[in-house]
Amino acid sequence: MKICIDTHTHSVSSGHAYSTVDDLARGARKRGLKGFVLSDHGPAMPGGPPPYHFSNLRIIPKKLFGLMFFTGVETNIMDDAGGLDLAPVYCKRLDFVMAGFHEICFASHGQTVNTQALLAVLANPLVDAVSHPGNPLFPIDIEEVVKATAKYGKALEINNSSFRIRPGCEENCRRVAQLSRQYGSLLSCGSDAHYWRDVGNFTAAKALLEETGVPPELVINSSLERFKEFVKKRRAARAEVPVKKL
Ligand SMILES: [Zn+2]
Ligand SMILES: [Zn+2]
Repeated sequence: MKICIDTHTHSVSSGHAYSTVDDLARGARKRGLKGFVLSDHGPAMPGGPPPYHFSNLRIIPKKLFGLMFFTGVETNIMDDAGGLDLAPVYCKRLDFVMAGFHEICFASHGQTVNTQALLAVLANPLVDAVSHPGNPLFPIDIEEVVKATAKYGKALEINNSSFRIRPGCEENCRRVAQLSRQYGSLLSCGSDAHYWRDVGNFTAAKALLEETGVPPELVINSSLERFKEFVKKRRAARAEVPVKKL
C-alpha cells in the first residue's frame, strides 16, 4: 500500500513541535510524498495557535517545493458532547479537519462517555476524521465508532506515532483496521510528525494496514486523487453548515 499524502503534521505553531512549514514540506519531498496536511493543534492546547492562525493559512501557496499543501487542524475534543476548540467559521475554511482526545484538554471519562463524545464528533458535519482513536488512554467501543464513521463517510486514523508514544495501542489499532475493513469504513494514515524527519514515516501504520488486509480504496490518502476527492466532498459538506460571520 502506498501512502501519498501525510494527513497529520505539526509545525512550530503547535507549541510543542519543532519545524517550520517549509521544513515539513522539504521532509515530505524527501520521502517522495505528493503532499501533506498541516494539522496544528487547536487553540485549547497549551502553547497552541490562536484561532486566527487557521484563517490565515490561505496565504500559504497551494504548492510548496512541488508538493500539494493542504490546510488543516487537529482540534481538541473538549467535553462529553464532542465540543471542539475551534469555531465553525474557522473549520469551514480548511481542507481537512480532525478531532482527537488529548489528556491535557479532556481527561478520559471511561468507555461509555468517551464513545458518546466520539459519536457526537463523528455526527458533526465540520469534522472529517478522528485522530489516534486507538489511544489506549481513551477506551472506546471501537465497533460503535467504526459503524458511525461508515455511516457519516468520515475516516478513522491509523497514527504512526502511536506505535512509539502510546504504548499498548497496537491491539486497538488492529481492531480499528479490521472493523473498518469489515464495515467498508474509511481510514487515514498519518505520521503525526512533530519534527520534519518524521513527515511521511508510516512504517508501523502501513505494516498494520497490510497485515489486516485493508484495501487502498478504504484509505483516503493512498493516492493524491483519492485524497483530493475526499477533501472536495467534505469541504462541500462543511460549506452547508450555517455559521456566524467573524
Ligand atoms: Zn493528537
Ligand atoms: Zn497530532
